[in-house]
This record gives sequence, C-alpha cells and structure tokens, in this order.
Amino acid sequence: MNIKSIVIGIVIFIAGGLISSYLLKDYIQDLALGELVGTATLDEKDSSIQVVPDSVLKPKELLNPENKAKNIILLIGDGMSISQISAYRLINGGANSRISLDQFPVTGIVLTHSANGIVTDSASSATAYSTGKKTNNGALGLDEEKKNLENLTETLDKFGFVSSLLATSEITHATPAAFAAHVDLRWKTDEISLQMVNDSIVSTFLAGGRSFFLPEDKGGKRKDGIDLLDQVNSTHILLTNKEEMVNFDLSRKGKLFGLFSGEHLRNIETPDNHSTEPELAQMLDFALKRSEKFIDEGCDGFFIMAEGSQVDWAGHVNNIEYLKREMSDFDSAAEWALEYAKSKGDTLVVVTADHETGGLLIEPPAPTKYEGNEVKISFNTAVGRGTHTGVPVPIYAYGPGSENFTGTLDNTDVYRAILSALDLGDSRSSCVAN
Ligand SMILES: [Zn+2]
Repeated sequence: MNIKSIVIGIVIFIAGGLISSYLLKDYIQDLALGELVGTATLDEKDSSIQVVPDSVLKPKELLNPENKAKNIILLIGDGMSISQISAYRLINGGANSRISLDQFPVTGIVLTHSANGIVTDSASSATAYSTGKKTNNGALGLDEEKKNLENLTETLDKFGFVSSLLATSEITHATPAAFAAHVDLRWKTDEISLQMVNDSIVSTFLAGGRSFFLPEDKGGKRKDGIDLLDQVNSTHILLTNKEEMVNFDLSRKGKLFGLFSGEHLRNIETPDNHSTEPELAQMLDFALKRSEKFIDEGCDGFFIMAEGSQVDWAGHVNNIEYLKREMSDFDSAAEWALEYAKSKGDTLVVVTADHETGGLLIEPPAPTKYEGNEVKISFNTAVGRGTHTGVPVPIYAYGPGSENFTGTLDNTDVYRAILSALDLGDSRSSCVAN
C-alpha cells in the first residue's frame, strides 16, 4: 500500500464521518476502508518484532475444591485456540449453533509460552501439563537443565491410578510422549518408544505409529535396528485395527498398545486403511471401559489424556477442510467425555490446547462487505509457512474440582489445578501389573 492510498483513505474516512446521512456515511466509510486495505497484500501487513521484558511467573492461587474428583479425562486439541473452535462452529452448524465444547460450564484462558520462547512447541507445552514445570521447546519430561521431571502418570501411579494415553498422531509424537517419556529432544522417537515400552507405567496406549516400532530393514522408521513391535507382541497386548479394539476381551489385563496405522491416523496417502482406524471418541470409549475394569480390580481412579493431534497439522498446512475434519473428531471426543462425566458424577473433564497454529482469522468476505452469511477464513501465518502462534488458548472444564479452571492460568497452573481436584490420600503400590 502506498502513501497516497493511506492519505486518500484517511481523508475520505473523516469526510464520511462528517456526513449526517447514516447510509451515505457508511457507504463512504466503506469506500475509504476499501482504499485503506484493498491494495495491501499479506506480506504488507503491519508487523513488528517486539522485545518482551523478562518477568517472573507467579503460580495462580488455587481454591481447595469442596468436591474432589475420582477420575480425570484431559483432552488436548493440538494447535486449537478460539479461532479454530469458532471457525468449526460456523462452518459446521452456523453462527447460532453450539458444538460440544460450548456445553462445558467452566471456561478459562491458558498462557502457553515455554521456558525459552514466547511461542511454544507441543513438547514443552505438554511437559507443562504433564509435570507442572516449564521447559525448553523440544524437551519432553525434562527441565531446562535436562533433569528428570516426574510426570502425572508416574505421580498418579503412586496413588493407585491407572493411566491411558490416546492420540491421532503416532504415539511417539510430542503430546503423548510428554506423559510417558523423558527425552531432551522430541525427535528422538526411537528412545521415546523404548521408554514407553520398557519404563512407562501407562497401561493403555492408543494411536498410530507402528512404523516407529519397526526397524528400517523391516519397512519401519527405527534407526537403532530394534524390532520393538516384536517385543511388544510378546510382553504387551498389541492391537493393530479398530475391529480388535471393539471386540477386545476387557478381562485381559496387562499393558496394551493399540497402534492402528504405520504413522498417524487418517493419513490422506493411505485412505484404504481409514476403515480400520478408530476415531478419537472410539479410543476414548475403549480407554474408559478398560479403566473401569482396572478400578473393578483394585485401582482407585483413572487418568486419560486424549489428543486431537492433527488440528495442529491442519494449521501447519493451512487447510480448512482438514481443520474441519479434525475439529469434528475432537469435538465428538469432548462430547463423549462430557456425557460420561455427567453420567458418573465423579470424573473431572478438562479440555484445552497446547498452543494455536496457523494464525487463523475469521473476516468478512471482503473488506467492505459486513452483511450476509459469507465469511473469509484464512491462516495468517501463510501457506507453506504455517507456524504456531503465541495467542492464548481456551480451557474448558466439567465435574468435581472444575472451579479452578477459570480466569487466566499459566499452562503449569493447569497441572496444579488437576492435582487440586483429586483427593489422593496415602501413597500405595501400583495397581497396574508390570
Ligand atoms: Zn505444531
């Protein structure tokens, strides 16, 4: 945009403001806005690099909830902020419609920065949720000095909880990995999967990612040559398709891996496989039933983390159809969790995100066209350059202990708020057979 456009725009805008006829005034001001914005391209948008002052994090003061929860379901929409949720609501059912996330009675705002960056990646944000500590971007379950941080599944195990991790990415991806592994770089998937199999106390892993358990010479992605899938087959229960999950005999105990695809679920390059891959809500249903079985046989409560992993990927590739599909899958899981919690009364459901991805905007279809039911939805971090952004994310809660999930929280406060919702009692031996 040139200086002439700006001057003409401002002059017409002021002139429009002086005209008393309402319609004419609006028309002239619209013309002016058109002049002001019509010629600018995305690259010419007003942008500047701001230096953010150093500051000290003060933990949020939490209430001690009167009613405590027995179980926790934590749903994480990777890359999902208010704009992703709003865009999905609009194109799914209209401006006056409500989606499942809208049914949650308690809402708040979560700040997501990492220990070493204003804009977080999924590993550090998930580590904040899983350990209550900020860490560097890329790190999983380790602090800034790479020291081990006990995660929620390990802590809760000491109090008789059974844990499950669910994702629509490969299971070795950052968000589930932050709840089961301790690795300085999220890309070390060989190490992450080894820790999940050999060290983690999590009873049920459900996601994609078989290739990350197979060595390269067997068509997998492992560089260390280990056939971990073969090991899982002998030491764990291994499920590889939806049918096996649906028909599973829940009396079977032992740690379980459901790895329903080579890499992530619903890969557009493997459409034939999609019929054998479960939706997030179906995995959640399975994890709930399996958790109840563990409780029947001695566990005191359950923790389930379920991630809608690919909302983030839709933002990275700037694809609104992809976003709609993944938001639908995630919102259905949120509905399932909410219905479950309403029927039980003892389960806290928390739904949030790790960060926003794509800089999603909801605009009028043209700068001067504010009327009608058309809306322009665009990713403002641009095609091919889709990045995470530093805007806060929403948090939703339902159930005992939900009162701490209001106002503005740091992502590390979410961990503390989850623990505050539970009456953990005395520590005890693990209820999950090794
Ligand atoms: Zn991402």
